[in-house]
Amino acid sequence: MTHDPKSPVGHNRESRLFYQSRSRRPLIERSEGVYMWDVDGKRYIDASSGAMVSNIGHSDPRVIAAMTKQLEKASFAYRLHFENDAAEDLAIRLADRAPGDLERVFFVSGGSEAVESCIKLARQYALAKGQAQRTKIISRFPSYHGATLGALAITGYTPMHAPFAPMMVDQPKIPAPTCYLDRDDLSDHDRGIKYANMLEAEIIKQGPETVLGFIMEPVGGAATGALVAPDSYYGRIREICDQYGILLIYDEVMTGAGRTGKYFAAEHWGIVPDILAVSKGLAAGYAPLGAMIAPDRIVGPVLDHGGFIHGYTYAGNPLACAAGNGVLDVIEEDNLLENASTNGAALKDELTKMADDFAMIGDVRGKGLLLAIELVKDRDSMEPIDPKHMAAARLVDIAYDMGLIIYWRRTRGGYRGDHVMVCPPMTITKEQFADILVPLRKALSELQDELEV
Ligand code: PLP
Repeated sequence: MTHDPKSPVGHNRESRLFYQSRSRRPLIERSEGVYMWDVDGKRYIDASSGAMVSNIGHSDPRVIAAMTKQLEKASFAYRLHFENDAAEDLAIRLADRAPGDLERVFFVSGGSEAVESCIKLARQYALAKGQAQRTKIISRFPSYHGATLGALAITGYTPMHAPFAPMMVDQPKIPAPTCYLDRDDLSDHDRGIKYANMLEAEIIKQGPETVLGFIMEPVGGAATGALVAPDSYYGRIREICDQYGILLIYDEVMTGAGRTGKYFAAEHWGIVPDILAVSKGLAAGYAPLGAMIAPDRIVGPVLDHGGFIHGYTYAGNPLACAAGNGVLDVIEEDNLLENASTNGAALKDELTKMADDFAMIGDVRGKGLLLAIELVKDRDSMEPIDPKHMAAARLVDIAYDMGLIIYWRRTRGGYRGDHVMVCPPMTITKEQFADILVPLRKALSELQDELEV
């Protein structure tokens, strides 16, 4: 069939695209700030910033102007032929904002590529130091670090592994600090230490001389529902990595670029990781962009030992980096870190209040505007809802029909329980909260009715 570009648009538009399933969503017409409109004129509030990407809201004219200016100057300059100012500037700005000695920036086009780069750098650093036996990266279960085979191997999500298991080297995992489920008498501090010490036990089990590094999301993403560990966890993890000479890799693909109220979440605990991955909010959806940031003490030996054997065609893409610079300008001009912090806390309070009316809200957690609610059978038991109901996915669908976008997550298999992410752009105002909270309350009531049937 030949495609007629004038064929009817809308929900039934002919398509040759495919993603994960046969399900289809309406066509987007336009977006502005925290709102999006489909071609039928229906308005949605983007209370998940897409997939926690659109941190500065949609269609900001300042970013569009920065990108247009770059396009008019040079649309593409391949890194083996030319340097470009947009990438150089953004690298300097990221190095200035990154924790401690993280000062060398390697650009990529997304989160999986950023994590993949961290794995490759860690390995090549070990080789440069003559430690070829170091091949393992310990990670947490549950966790999400990306879809490419390397990033998938360190991802703690079993169903995504299944088809590829014979093609992949599975990497060791320790439990993520899901302290909110623990029913012991430990203090928060001791519980944090208990979970962190699981890393030490795993390193010893694997043989410290075989381990390259440990990777963690400082605040969990969709895999754990914005999981925040007790403060003591972060320092103890750093200590263990130092003690065994193991690289600490922070996956800030979701938490980086301001979402938790600091430019990098590591700052909340004063931690300097050895390597850091950032993506989503970096160009905030205006262009595909990610970065690995590492210190010269790691990059230098790799560059001197045969070079970094890794890279992508779109590395340091001028248009994507111009978007990144434009996004950073907006974050700073509009004081969006402060907004993520204060309005994030205010939104979390509202969600916590909502839990008074719904026993199925087991927990409300997160930091800044990286927030999630966990759905359970009832809060007292914290028993999970029977996975056959796919409760989180169902809530997301009910809300979507009402024009409220919250983040989808598959329930069945791999993870315990149901949670949905509530993560509007960092530009959200308190006046706009009602556009999230009113439909969310209605959607929760509908879900509750359905589950009781
Ligand atoms: N790491 C984390 C923490 C993520 O949340 C994601 C995506 O959700 C990724 C890595 C992979 O990023 P991408 O989907 O851009 O490849």
